[in-house]
Amino acid sequence: MRSERQERVLAGLAVSPGIAIGTLYVHEPSVVAVSAYAIEAGAVDDERARFRRSVEAALQQIEKLRTKAGALPGPAQEAATALLDVHRQMLSGSRLVRGVERRIAETRINAEAALEAELAAIAESFAAIDDSAIQSRVEDIRGAGERVLRHLTQTAYRSFSRVPPGSVVVAEELTPADAALMDPARIAGFAAAMGGVEGHTAIMARALRLPAVLGVPGLMEAARGAAIAVIDGTEGRVILAPSPATIALYRRQRSALVRQRRRWIAAAGLPSVTDDGIAVSLQANIDLPAEVADARMLGAEGVGLLRTEVQFMNREDLPDEDDQYALLRAVVEGFGGQPVTIRTLDIGGDKRAPALAAHFPEGPNPALGLRAIRYSLKMPRLFEAQVAAILRAGMHGPVRILLPMVTTVGEMHQARLFIQRTARKLRRAGVAVPDPLPPIGAMIETPAAALGADALAAHADFFAIGTNDLTMYTLAVDRSDEQVARLYDPFHPAVLRLIVFAVTAARERQIPVSLCGEIGGDPRFTALLLGLGLRQLSMAPANLPRVRERLRAVDVAEAQALAARAVSAHDGVHVAVLVEHFNGSL
Ligand code: PEP
Ligand code: MG
Repeated sequence: MRSERQERVLAGLAVSPGIAIGTLYVHEPSVVAVSAYAIEAGAVDDERARFRRSVEAALQQIEKLRTKAGALPGPAQEAATALLDVHRQMLSGSRLVRGVERRIAETRINAEAALEAELAAIAESFAAIDDSAIQSRVEDIRGAGERVLRHLTQTAYRSFSRVPPGSVVVAEELTPADAALMDPARIAGFAAAMGGVEGHTAIMARALRLPAVLGVPGLMEAARGAAIAVIDGTEGRVILAPSPATIALYRRQRSALVRQRRRWIAAAGLPSVTDDGIAVSLQANIDLPAEVADARMLGAEGVGLLRTEVQFMNREDLPDEDDQYALLRAVVEGFGGQPVTIRTLDIGGDKRAPALAAHFPEGPNPALGLRAIRYSLKMPRLFEAQVAAILRAGMHGPVRILLPMVTTVGEMHQARLFIQRTARKLRRAGVAVPDPLPPIGAMIETPAAALGADALAAHADFFAIGTNDLTMYTLAVDRSDEQVARLYDPFHPAVLRLIVFAVTAARERQIPVSLCGEIGGDPRFTALLLGLGLRQLSMAPANLPRVRERLRAVDVAEAQALAARAVSAHDGVHVAVLVEHFNGSL
């Protein structure tokens, strides 16, 4: 495992702990598959608007990449910037853009097909000219066009089935759907130039227990010519063309981590009780059924959050009721009588599903648009299939239904009626469903839900606080954008106060409340969260041992004093210092 190139160390965001050492595999975006269909005359304007939105999204992506290119060393910066400038030019009122719009109107075909046809026509018109400068121009046009196609089709990137076993994958950008395709038996870890700590790509990496680093400026340029890479997902480093001494060092660290995991598995049976005798329930966040065994081995007391959207990604068709039922039943049975909290489809934002793209007009701001429960309530057939699958799975063990992104009492009410109606329909058809129906809970992940938690508590059977989105929406910081990653701060007192709102409302109404954002699995937050009143935390299975170990050392009365100071601190930095000091004394 020697590489000719000199070792380079790049820093990024540590999003999934562990060490990966392997052959470098540079992941390039694939060619996008396009389907062509006719559109009605009345739909031409909408189709053109959809095309323009995709051009806009591609231009925004180019701007982002240009900013990143600014951090590269001299020649790499020039090359990257020049290419991006060409792409920008080609998407700004160019022949390509005008040509596609004309084709949509004149031939009444969908935007993807119009774009493909225009790209082919441009290539053909230059085909006869034997000039390498012109030919590379044609390639640039295709490159710019493919950027737009990717946005139009919301296509997942190429699958990783051909990646040589043991590889380390690096890419400009990896979507959550890309990450979901990675098989930990083949892929040792990954890194990407883009992405933030709490985006779903990061969550997927943790779910798969793949060491990962995101938000690494200059990664693709630095990877050129390197044969081997190390991903240090604990410290947030990518080492390209590592020296033999570096490889040896990281191998030792990797072995130490394996030994530590064995110790943790052995300690999984220890009670989750604080130093002053308060029981805390630790549950698992499950993204993939493959995680069930790990969660049980590490002592999870059920599932606090089952993210169902992963089953909708990476496929051209939609999973039907039976597909969904089969998956849910496997998880419910896997937990052998412990409760499983199944969240209804939380698609939107950075979580995309190609099969839903056609029914999913992406608005100007997807994070604030038609997503999660809003989407389900607008798509009754889709929602009914999911609810029916959940109710049927509920015959195999206790389930709870969790609604994502709730902002109004009306949504709770509407969803409850819908679930009751679906249950009646199933019963009429002779299908057994649980009696009484499963509890229906609300995710508290928007400021509106937290501030209005007292009203919601009257309509919800339980709360699950989602601090990933709660932090994002409270601080107006995109959780998957590495450019503002430093501002993404769940220690911010504004976020803590909203948690208090939710916990207090739940306590007054005597409904269970848990926390299932990523901070639930971060031991730095454990004492603070106990102090804020939480007694139920749900987390990626790999984090269960560390959180259990931490909470066993905490005295809740002391943690309450810490929380009181944190809530009235003037900023998140101050809270981080208070917490660090407290944790250091444990
Ligand atoms: C959250 O927002 O905190 C949450 C748990 O949900 P997700 O990460 O899937 O958005
Ligand atoms: Mg969320």
